[in-house]
Amino acid sequence: MKSLDQLVFNNTYSQLPSLFGTSVTPQPLTNPYLISINPNVAKQLELDVNSLNNSDFINIFSGNDTLAGFDPIAMKYTGHQFGQYNPDLGDGRGLLLGEVQTSQGKKWDLHLKGSGLTPYSRMGDGRAVIRSSIREYLASAAMAGLGIPTTYALAVIGSDTPVYREKQEFGATLIRVAESHLRFGHFEYLFYTQQHEQLTLLADYVIQHHFPELQQAEKPYAAMFEQICSNTAEMIAHWQAVGFAHGVMNTDNMSILGLTFDYGPYGFLDDYNPSFICNHSDYSGRYAFNQQPSIGLWNLSALGYALAPIIDKADIEHALEIYQHQLQISYSKLMRNKLGLFDSHEQDTELFQQLFDLLKQNGMDYTLFFRTLSAIAQEELPTSAVRFSNLTTNTTAVDKWLQAYKKRIENIDDQQRLALMLKSNPKYILRNYLAQLAIDSAEQGDFTLVENLLTILHDPFDEHPEFEDLADLSPKWGKELEISCSS
Ligand code: AMP
Ligand code: MG
Ligand code: MG
Repeated sequence: MKSLDQLVFNNTYSQLPSLFGTSVTPQPLTNPYLISINPNVAKQLELDVNSLNNSDFINIFSGNDTLAGFDPIAMKYTGHQFGQYNPDLGDGRGLLLGEVQTSQGKKWDLHLKGSGLTPYSRMGDGRAVIRSSIREYLASAAMAGLGIPTTYALAVIGSDTPVYREKQEFGATLIRVAESHLRFGHFEYLFYTQQHEQLTLLADYVIQHHFPELQQAEKPYAAMFEQICSNTAEMIAHWQAVGFAHGVMNTDNMSILGLTFDYGPYGFLDDYNPSFICNHSDYSGRYAFNQQPSIGLWNLSALGYALAPIIDKADIEHALEIYQHQLQISYSKLMRNKLGLFDSHEQDTELFQQLFDLLKQNGMDYTLFFRTLSAIAQEELPTSAVRFSNLTTNTTAVDKWLQAYKKRIENIDDQQRLALMLKSNPKYILRNYLAQLAIDSAEQGDFTLVENLLTILHDPFDEHPEFEDLADLSPKWGKELEISCSS
């Protein structure tokens, strides 16, 4: 394990031509203090977490100091926001500080979000607030714990720099760690500014650093796009299975590696509601929960359009078909796992449809329904509807579905089924109200709940008897929280 000054940097992005970004120095926050460090992420970077809780670390990652090896750069990208092309995007409040090289040769981007103004800040102030930084910090830990591809967050730092949103808040930084910060919008930028020869340069860069096995492919660029389509399908299949709504699936928030990227007004489903809209600024429901698979296709089509100068049309169309196919396959598999089904039967579609109808019509909690079911042995099923009575008063309807389910599983080994279900159905998710309580107390200087949430979210499939209450249903106020784009 290393200390910060022992990190090795290999800054490949800043070697790209200057059109890919602008060098910018972070702007300091005043009186910075540590809110939390994620030990799992420190480990990924081979950092000794105990060497980090000190003023050097805080100063470096609040823009008050720098580290040898940093080469901060604001990346240029564009993208489609709510379906409209916006040419003026880029890192408006974040910087790629440098790329850490681990002893195994793995590369991790260190990105500082909330680091001040850049040439792409437009009307913004270049800042992030404590509230949104904690939301991203916890969400990335939650997704990692659930086994869903995501960017990570090493730490959150608070400050007393005033930042103005709906009300006055305080500035914070989030240290984002990811294999790459490349977005669909990086390619869109090159396409829409007619810098088509640079498209090959960026594609070569992506292949070299992230998909080296594709260098041997007959058509490496087509293979790259196909890989992006398939990674995106895998990511969205996980979102749909776990009940995660991203909220702002603009193409500038879509990762080239298929990582869940840019946590803003996201939400995990409480009561099952397929048309759940987590972002209160999304008036048309473009990014509603059940729209995500088709928006994924829309976004990939936008990326395919931008790659048309270097990939044959037929190959682009083929890759888009792969996306749809793979999403269906992966989602079905993940959902079967949730019911402890090891193979697929023709009647499963109906069983699932009846289940979704049951959950929706009775407004049942998505996570706790599956978790409760994961603890019921086959022979107990006929009398177990009562166990769902904290989720609905309509236990007759639950009983009806349980009968159908019992029939479906009669030839499955019960222990194997329950074991599969317990590792496929989390007990703990990052409910909106939990994030809100953690933020409220952090803003008062108490970081206990942030730490406790981190503990359970790292292992959300395990029992944590000391944190039983963090698995509770959301209170009414928690389901009605309005989360806007403001961050
Ligand atoms: P987002 O909605 O988070 O995906 O951000 C969209 C664009 O707005 C990106 O180019 C961001 O860098 C930029 N942006 C968001 N918030 C700010 C801010 N407070 N200051 C400057 N730029 C921002
Ligand atoms: Mg963004
Ligand atoms: Mg954002």
